Amino acid sequence: MSKIKVMDTILSNKIAAGEVVERCSSVVKELVENAIDAKSTIIKIELIDAGTKLVKVIDNGIGMEKEDAVICFERHATSKLIDEEDLYRIETLGFRGEALPSIASVSKVDLKTSTGGVGTNVKIEGGKIISIDSCDARKGTIIEIKDLFYNTPARLKHMKSLYTELASVTDYINKLALSYPEIQFVLKNNNNIILNTDGSGNKLKTFSSVFGMNTTRKMVKIEGENDDYYVEGYISLPEIQRSSRNHMIIIVNGRIVRNTELNRTINDAYHGYKPDNRYPIVMINITVDPSLIDVNIHPTKMDIKFSKFEALNDLIENLVRNALKPKTLIPEVKEVEEIDYEREEITINEDFIVKEPVIKYEELTLDLSREESTIAKEPKKEETANIKRLPELYPLAAAFNTYIICQNEKGLYLIDQHAAKERINYEIVLKKLNDNNEKKIQLLFPITIELTGSENIILKENLELLKNMKFDIEEFGINSVIVKSHPAWLTRFNEEKAIRKIIDLVIEKEKNFDLSKFQDHVAATMACKMSIKAGDKITIEEMENLINDLRKCENPFNCPHGRPTIIFYSINDLEKLFKRSGFDNKK
Ligand code: ZN
Ligand code: ZN
Repeated sequence: MSKIKVMDTILSNKIAAGEVVERCSSVVKELVENAIDAKSTIIKIELIDAGTKLVKVIDNGIGMEKEDAVICFERHATSKLIDEEDLYRIETLGFRGEALPSIASVSKVDLKTSTGGVGTNVKIEGGKIISIDSCDARKGTIIEIKDLFYNTPARLKHMKSLYTELASVTDYINKLALSYPEIQFVLKNNNNIILNTDGSGNKLKTFSSVFGMNTTRKMVKIEGENDDYYVEGYISLPEIQRSSRNHMIIIVNGRIVRNTELNRTINDAYHGYKPDNRYPIVMINITVDPSLIDVNIHPTKMDIKFSKFEALNDLIENLVRNALKPKTLIPEVKEVEEIDYEREEITINEDFIVKEPVIKYEELTLDLSREESTIAKEPKKEETANIKRLPELYPLAAAFNTYIICQNEKGLYLIDQHAAKERINYEIVLKKLNDNNEKKIQLLFPITIELTGSENIILKENLELLKNMKFDIEEFGINSVIVKSHPAWLTRFNEEKAIRKIIDLVIEKEKNFDLSKFQDHVAATMACKMSIKAGDKITIEEMENLINDLRKCENPFNCPHGRPTIIFYSINDLEKLFKRSGFDNKK
């Protein structure tokens, strides 16, 4: 294939994708990436109405000489410009160089640029050069794109809402800022600051500019390596939850990439600590020999494939699990008084910002300044298994026959009695499902279960599964089965209902069957049914037993569905809430 052909293919793909200048975010992307290429250390992006009226990018990069300032708006589809270097750029940075002329053809452009000497000012409207003058300019480039799509109103109409446009730009700049912590990024819309990073190169500081101090305080450091990969970064405590995977950021050799499998692995490593359909915030930097990765660049995303993926996957999964394992994960109820210093003096157009929910929970022990290191080069699996992660607690009573009120020297705790008991039963059932010595209980009166024809067909194929779970189950007449014995753990409630439920779970099971996920689901469902409910009255002694059993759990902090079992009010915060922390606090 000739080079021109290659170019044609890429170009036509790109145009087919409709991404050359489809949206404000593609304009911002092009201009900001040019600024990065120009070795800028400060990049300011100013938008009016999400960029529809104005996109202005100011950088302190190397600037352009006069000829380049003019030529960059011309389509260079001639063969002489397509040399090896251009092809390299296409491969490494995505297709570039065609976007500027496209942008210029649908907007009014005002470019001021200087390499240090006399500057150049180029003005273009609808793709036609209006003027080329010299001007005063400091080193760097200021480019203004006004009235995007003013001459193609159909496209303007096609654009999503201003909110969506701004959200997309913000998301993109946030991610760029995270992958280039040594560049200062300022993003404004209608003169309100949305992002302002310090360009110090400090990843955590940049992170806090993007996500805020409260979230940053709840990040846990991870670090580890294997023969091929070095991984370091921050993962959020399970109480930080988002509705999308969008804040799971993976940076490989300094570039943000996408890898669905890694996202899934990370989310799976949180299993049991939060609902599976809520996602953590993570920022993970992976350093690897470039020959081990295969990057596929699309106009809007960068998909990546890793060689030796299994090993990388295991490494990251272990790092996340081991980082959470030794932590006390009791959400702390706080008086909300923290000031977000990063954002204090700026007015933010509230409508446009992807806001943090008001988080009142604060993790008990984590404080970045005295955070224990969770560096795990060779994670040891059972190391922390016997450490009691829940402190000793003394129950006082149960409010609404639902929340057990407890205290110790640190403060006040509320335990959700159903969630706690559910966790205890879940861990018991899960163990027994995997225990070959689990006893069977012979039923005095075998239970017959009627099924529909299709249910019967699915169940017949899966009878082994039930037999492995210690059920004696056989076909019985047309479309029904008979159960003659069941595992011993299943005794505490209505057996027939429970057996029917388990059969339902077998029938509903997913196509890509995963035994451990299935067992997990069975254990969680059964634990819910076996456990005391909210509103059930229990004695103090029963509360004590429940707390003791909870303390023995591998994860005492969440029910099997990821809800918290316990929350905490520190004495300190109680004093603050009652305003006792002042001069008369001893009265
Ligand atoms: Zn439940
Ligand atoms: Zn639950």
